[in-house]
Amino acid sequence: MSLQSEARIDLAAIRANVRELRGRTNAEVMAVVKADGYGHGIVPAARAALAGGATWLGVATLDEALTVRAAGISAPLLAWLIAPDQPLRAAVEADVELSVATGWLLEDVVAAAEASGRTARIQLKIDTGLGRGGVGPAEWPALVDAAAKHAAAGTVEITGIWSHFARADEPGDPSIAAQQKTFAEALEVAAGLGVDPPLRHLANSAAALSLPNAHFDLVRAGIAIYGYSPVPGEFGLRPAMTMRGSVAVVKRLPAGHGISYGHIYTTQTETTVALVPLGYGDGIPRHASNIAPLWVAGRRHRIAGRVCMDQFVVDVGDDPVEVGQDAILFGPGDHGEPTADDWAAALDTISYEIVTRVGARVPRTYV
Ligand code: PLP
Repeated sequence: MSLQSEARIDLAAIRANVRELRGRTNAEVMAVVKADGYGHGIVPAARAALAGGATWLGVATLDEALTVRAAGISAPLLAWLIAPDQPLRAAVEADVELSVATGWLLEDVVAAAEASGRTARIQLKIDTGLGRGGVGPAEWPALVDAAAKHAAAGTVEITGIWSHFARADEPGDPSIAAQQKTFAEALEVAAGLGVDPPLRHLANSAAALSLPNAHFDLVRAGIAIYGYSPVPGEFGLRPAMTMRGSVAVVKRLPAGHGISYGHIYTTQTETTVALVPLGYGDGIPRHASNIAPLWVAGRRHRIAGRVCMDQFVVDVGDDPVEVGQDAILFGPGDHGEPTADDWAAALDTISYEIVTRVGARVPRTYV
């Protein structure tokens, strides 16, 4: 019995999930550990993924990349979301590979490389249809050409060409084939300009699990290494995070009693309610009010009434519940507890958001 709430992270599950992915591809596996390792802790997640056979790490920001390096992790590392005025020189000096998708960033990276006296390793990103980052096919030759000139001058080394799917989690969607075709064309254009780097990559978890012909040289897997699949199917993945609170208050309430702010829940009969000290200050969405499932008192129940900043209430009926008992919000599902997929279905979101938004106030414990 523990009164402390926690997000318990099963590092063996992360290792096993990476091994599972490795068994499904001839490509290298890049473990995506941005956003604090999808809430699991960036450094422990990175270490576990590498131990499971990942050979690359992927992050969004340079701060994340430098956090990985500061922990003494020297594995190949790509950062792909770089705003102006970021610590590019520190990143180059820390051997962080940089995704380049705009002319200004190419010039800034070159300046950072010159300032540090080193060659910056860059990976060029083409927007094959996602409509987010990356240069479009029309501007692609100009970016490749400019990068090739800097490579000839020795300021940069082009190590990769990459892109990102929009709808890989919707098997059979025509955009998947269209993006693959655009990617293949972009590779040809680059090769025609003398740029033929060793790493070509397009696949996220969904594609890693369901589109073997999109694996190229490396798959960038995020959610799958944490144990969830964005595509239907059984892939042998195990959720790594268990979100647990402890019942802090138990009391009987009469029928017709409103619960929590706004009284959006009213007891139907005399009943037992249990208070769990987790709220939106801990990353539990307020939108979970009245709908999110959890495991308490030996059975699944639902949050009753509004999720507050620090707490919510569960109506357990006549089930026996005691102060200090576990309330499992989500976990692997082995013991009847909901999974983050169950939460995502109830809240009309995705497992990614459920695990990633677990707040800084919740201690991560590692097993
Ligand atoms: N690659 C890029 C560029 C991403 O932004 C992400 C995450 O959103 C991933 C790969 C990993 O995606 P997933 O978690 O679906 O595997």
